Amino acid sequence: MLMKFQREMNLTYLFITHDLSMVRHIADHTAVMYLGTMVEYGPTAELYDHPAHPYTIGLLSAVPIADPEYCRTHQPSHLQGEVPSPINPKPGCRFCDRCPRATAQCRKERPVLREIAPGHLAACYNL
Ligand code: SF4
Repeated sequence: MLMKFQREMNLTYLFITHDLSMVRHIADHTAVMYLGTMVEYGPTAELYDHPAHPYTIGLLSAVPIADPEYCRTHQPSHLQGEVPSPINPKPGCRFCDRCPRATAQCRKERPVLREIAPGHLAACYNL
């Protein structure tokens, strides 16, 4: 129904969800947020095929995929730990307490979005 309205009325939606399998079907562009900060943004197909930020990779890994071949060839990357409180966030990358790639730099400075492919941006020091 949403896609029908979009076609017929030339609408633009801002769709906020945790259901990443639905996002893939309805969104032209996707932004991934963590603790109120955008950590990755890009054309949906590019972002799903080449996720860059460790949080995006963890989120996509948690989406159930009914394809035995895909499951055999892709290693799951489950998110570890708890989401920290957004009150008085620590300096540095907000994801660093849960990130398997975190370095000393991540704990000192907050990464900013930078373009890693045409139209595809990610905020991470270790891409
Ligand atoms: S900046 Fe560091 S802690 Fe943050 S996502 Fe990238 S590697 Fe992980």
